[in-house]
Amino acid sequence: MSAFALLTRERLRKDPRPPGDVGDLITRSLSFSYGDVRAVADVSIDVPAGTVTALLGPSGCGKTTLLRLIAGLERPEAGSIHAGGETLSTPDRVRPPEKRRIGMVFQEGALFPHLSVAENVGFGLPRGPHRAETIEEALTLVGLSGMGQRSPTSLSGGQRQRVALARALAPGPEVLLLDEPFANLDPALRVELRTEVASLLRTLGITSVFVTHDQEEAFVMGAQVIVMRDGRVLQSATPSELYSRPANRWVATFVGEANVVPGQGGAEAADTVVGSVPLAEAAPATCEVLLRPEHLALDTGDAWEVEQLEFYGHDTLYVLRDDQGQKLMVRAAGAPRHVSGDRASVRYQGPPTVAFEA
Ligand code: ADP
Ligand code: MG
Repeated sequence: MSAFALLTRERLRKDPRPPGDVGDLITRSLSFSYGDVRAVADVSIDVPAGTVTALLGPSGCGKTTLLRLIAGLERPEAGSIHAGGETLSTPDRVRPPEKRRIGMVFQEGALFPHLSVAENVGFGLPRGPHRAETIEEALTLVGLSGMGQRSPTSLSGGQRQRVALARALAPGPEVLLLDEPFANLDPALRVELRTEVASLLRTLGITSVFVTHDQEEAFVMGAQVIVMRDGRVLQSATPSELYSRPANRWVATFVGEANVVPGQGGAEAADTVVGSVPLAEAAPATCEVLLRPEHLALDTGDAWEVEQLEFYGHDTLYVLRDDQGQKLMVRAAGAPRHVSGDRASVRYQGPPTVAFEA
């Protein structure tokens, strides 16, 4: 077992929280406005204790506002927030942030530049005999053992976010809120950190809400993914459910690549431009059918023209068009087997899919 895993196990064993103190994080019909702007509208979410939920949505959809409500930084206009069986917020009563065991990590680590790394991590900790030990333990968890005396200004962006995470973890929060913590990092570092942090949060078993506008990041981080748009929750599901059974056309295209083509629905299949496609549930006569590009295959034929192709190494994305102007994306493993201008036929080879009301 790695030193890392040993440490986290040790930490869990020493955890002074009484049993039953840790519970689900729940919001019910939560609403909040900035003046005329309804930022959070009737939001009900359930974050099961000890698991990570990713909150996914485009910029401006209300993710940060929802986190601020959960943290107790804003007062709901309607609805309520509960954690571990206790009510934290209602329009009448808001338990202040410092009285909630909630840790936060922001997009910008928001470290105090004039304090050392250790002083930053220790900021919210009570004075006491175990303070230095707790700080070093938190730094070790995030892979910064022995760096306590450094100045935050001497660290890389990734290291600063690690310090911010250590600072949030040090007081032993019940709930951890992370607001696009990797958004300002370069892509390679982002991928590395998200894998590491996903594993750390799972090992620690901290109830966490991880905000992102990046679908891939949401899928890697969250056991559950909640999709938001315009202040509302559109769908809560596991990543695989979300991908295979998106609730509507918007979710389908926001979560991964999607062809959404007109179809004639039935009980078990729909008629589409690529022929009959199996359905997971019955669809209306006039509908729109979701065809994921990797569930389509190219065959010999002449119904479609290859307009464009992009080779990604592991696979190739073909953009096709038929004589009616319908566009289709097809993803096939390996190197290109066509050039643009080629003609081909397309067939569906995926699992039962979903259709939306047209
Ligand atoms: P996200 O984090 O998903 O990008 P936000 O929660 O920051 O979304 O914002 C939700 C909506 O509320 C947006 O329309 C945004 O412009 C608005 N908003 C956010 N903060 C403020 C504020 N302090 N004053 C007024 N409007 C705000
Ligand atoms: Mg935000």
